[in-house]
Amino acid sequence: MSASEPVVHVALLPSAGMGHLNPCLRLAASFLRYGCKVTFITPIPTVSIAESNLISRFCSFFPHQVTQIDFNLIPLDPTTVATNIDPFFLQFQTIRHSMHLLYPILSSLSTPLSAFIYNASLISAVVTISEKLLCPSYIYFPSAARMLSFIAYVAVLADSDSAAQPHPSTFIGDAVQIPGFTSPITRSSVPPAFLLQGSNSFQRMIMEDSRKLLKLDGVFINSFEELEGEALGALNEGKVVRGLPPVYGIGPLMACEFESVDQGQRGSMSWILEWLDEQAEGSVVYVSLGSRTETRKEQIKDMALGLIESGYSFLWVVKLKKVDREEEEGLEDVLGSELMSKVREKGVVVKEFVDQMKILGHPAVGGFVSHGGWNSITETVWEGVPILTWPQIGDQKITSEAIRMSGVGIWADEWGWGTEKVVKGKEIAKKIKEMMSNESLRVKAGEMKEAAKKACGVGGSCEVIIKGLIEEWKRNA
Ligand code: UDP
Ligand code: UDP
Repeated sequence: MSASEPVVHVALLPSAGMGHLNPCLRLAASFLRYGCKVTFITPIPTVSIAESNLISRFCSFFPHQVTQIDFNLIPLDPTTVATNIDPFFLQFQTIRHSMHLLYPILSSLSTPLSAFIYNASLISAVVTISEKLLCPSYIYFPSAARMLSFIAYVAVLADSDSAAQPHPSTFIGDAVQIPGFTSPITRSSVPPAFLLQGSNSFQRMIMEDSRKLLKLDGVFINSFEELEGEALGALNEGKVVRGLPPVYGIGPLMACEFESVDQGQRGSMSWILEWLDEQAEGSVVYVSLGSRTETRKEQIKDMALGLIESGYSFLWVVKLKKVDREEEEGLEDVLGSELMSKVREKGVVVKEFVDQMKILGHPAVGGFVSHGGWNSITETVWEGVPILTWPQIGDQKITSEAIRMSGVGIWADEWGWGTEKVVKGKEIAKKIKEMMSNESLRVKAGEMKEAAKKACGVGGSCEVIIKGLIEEWKRNA
């Protein structure tokens, strides 16, 4: 950028959890690559240690281009908070509740803002502020284009319901047929909290956000034409909802250098990689149900039995608690020493946060049993690894369907949601074998990897979009 050109300055605000933070930082890195200045607003305190560690690494990697600002949250009145609330969802609520503190932060930045980009779970709270800012505002949507279409379309469904107070449990019906989509979203795939009787904060949030989408200048989504062409087309051609702003498929968002932990601080990652080095190419099953899903003890034993019975070597990341700050119990206590030693004969099992991109990129990994978190999915696509999804919560059945349609993954839909039943080891072994031996899945995953590299390469869709926006912001400066 020459000295006479205006500085392009982008502010970003994530919400909670690694699944929402990773795409935010990767998107920030996409702008940093083209010389933009970034202000990163950190909601404090973060929910997990993994989040605060990653933000520190990001900021120290770009000491001149990135300014980090603390957004000190005001805790909610504990008497109004349900005791069993998901800690990440509670953080969304806390950020929304602290929103009046955001405007003073944004309006006092010394360099004028070219754009403000924030997490999708904050739309209706942020819109009131962003309308006062003298710059365009965008959300980044940390899930599939199929999920965005669902969120956008629920307001249309509610408006076409004749009831005085339309309720999702009624207007969703047996399935939602979104215009422009070949396959409907069945009722059983809808996030369960959305269908609960009565009124809950999740339903209110989705309904408000659905309407407010129209007020944005654009939506960034971690997807691309070859992966979700139908959904991206339907969104951008006005089929889903008329008047929707542009949906920018800037995926797959690549893992960045700042995410890697230094050799010396790697902990168990060093020996995990050494172990992978000893395994034959494509022979290992990697298992992880994401950064915020704890696996119930009843399920863990059958998971172990399934992995052993599958006959493949495996690398299994187990979470016993939702939030990493609370992980204390040993795995051996849950599995018992006999099963634990059998597990160790065939595989590696760890409890801590791993460098997932390093694992997925290792040639020994031949398949991934995933909860269907959209970041995990796109990372797997990037590496050309076949996927077996086992949705646990929220949007993960909708993402599983998206990935099944793309041809790079299979979905064990008969297993239901993660907590619905204990899936037996035999069934798990059968599905793992199906994934690992499915040749067409492997071929398709390889093709999708090529398409992903093209989308992120020189002159690819990602570069075209980011450069185009930077130009637009400069013109409007
Ligand atoms: N992740 C990781 N190590 C772990 C668990 C998760 O690096 O041990 C990363 C993963 O690569 C992904 C993010 O954390 O980028 C999780 O996001 P995703 O959407 O897959 O699922 P979530 O954890 O939000 O359910
Ligand atoms: N949720 C919850 N309590 C509520 C409302 C929602 O635990 O009162 C859960 C909901 O089931 C969902 C998560 O919080 O799994 C938030 O969902 P969202 O899709 O916004 O986050 P994501 O799954 O994309 O990380």
